[in-house]
Amino acid sequence: MTNEAQWQHITAQLPLWLAKSRSEAQHGRPASYIPELAHAPADALGAVILSADGRKLEAGDSSYVFTLQSISKVFTLLLALMDQGEERVFRKVGMEPTGDDFNSMLKLELVEPGIPFNPLINAGAITVTSLIAGQTPTERTSRVLAFFRELTGDPALTYNETVYASEKATAHRNRSLAYFLKDNDVLDADVEETLDVYFKHCSIEADCSHLARLALVLALNGKDPHTGRELVPRRYVQIAKSFMITCGMYNASGEFAIQVGLPAKSGVAGGILALVPGRYGIGVVGPALNDKGNSVAGVHLLRTMSEAMDWSIF
Ligand code: GLU
Repeated sequence: MTNEAQWQHITAQLPLWLAKSRSEAQHGRPASYIPELAHAPADALGAVILSADGRKLEAGDSSYVFTLQSISKVFTLLLALMDQGEERVFRKVGMEPTGDDFNSMLKLELVEPGIPFNPLINAGAITVTSLIAGQTPTERTSRVLAFFRELTGDPALTYNETVYASEKATAHRNRSLAYFLKDNDVLDADVEETLDVYFKHCSIEADCSHLARLALVLALNGKDPHTGRELVPRRYVQIAKSFMITCGMYNASGEFAIQVGLPAKSGVAGGILALVPGRYGIGVVGPALNDKGNSVAGVHLLRTMSEAMDWSIF
C-alpha cells in the first residue's frame, strides 16, 4: 500500500476499530490508588494519529483530558540525559526490565548495586527526576514544563493541581521507595523535593493530540515535526525508544511487543503513547486498566491497528 492508500484505509477504519475496542473497557477499571484517578469515565476511548507528512486523524473521546502519569517518565529521562549525559544517568539507574510491578521495591534490596533496574519503573523515574538540572524544585518543575511545551508546541500545557495533591497525599509507597534510594546513596537530592517534582510531572494534563505529537517527535528521532529542528539528540531518543520496547508497558511489555510490536509507554490514567518509526505518532486514552496497569481498550485498539496495517517493527 502507498502512504496515501494506507492513510485512506486508516481514515475509513479507525472509527470502526475504535467502536469495537471500546467494549473491551468492561474488562478493566480506572486506577484508584491515586484517589483522584478513580473518577475517570471507565468507558471513554479516544485516539489521535499524526503522520510525518502533517496529517491528523482523530476518533472517539480524543479531546478527553487526562494526566500523563508514567508517560511523563520517557521525557524526564530525555531531559536528564540532555542535562547530565548518558554516563552520569546510567551510573544511577540500570537498563534492564524487571518483570515486577512498576512500584515494586523487591529488587532494590535483592541485587547489587542497589540502583533501580530501569528509568521507567517508579524507583528509576524518581531517581531520574533528581538528575534534572535546576537550583530548586520550582526551577526543575519549570524546566520540565518548558520541555513538554516545546515538544508538544502547546505553551499552555501544565499540571493538574488536584491530581498532584491527591498523589502527594497518598504516595506512601513512592515515598518509601525514595527514602530507600536515599539510604542507598542512589538519590543525592532531597527526597521530598524530588518527589514534589515527580508528582507534578506525573500530573501534567494532556489529551490524545498532545500524546500523538510527543510520539511523532520520537518517531522522527527527536526532530520537530513542523520545522525539522532537532529538539532531542537522536541518540537519546534511541535510548528512550529501547526502554519503551523493553519496559514501556510495565510487565506486559513482552506481550505487547509480540502483539503490537511498537515502542509505547502507558500511564495509570489510561493514556498510551505509541509510534510507528518515521511515520506516525499515536495517542490513545482509555481509563479502564487491566491488572498490569495498561488501558484495556487502548491496548486492544493498538493491537487491532497494528495487525491491520502490519506496523510491527519486528
Ligand atoms: N504517578 C504514578 C505513580 O507514581 C505513575 C504511575 C504510572 O503511571 O505507572 O504511582
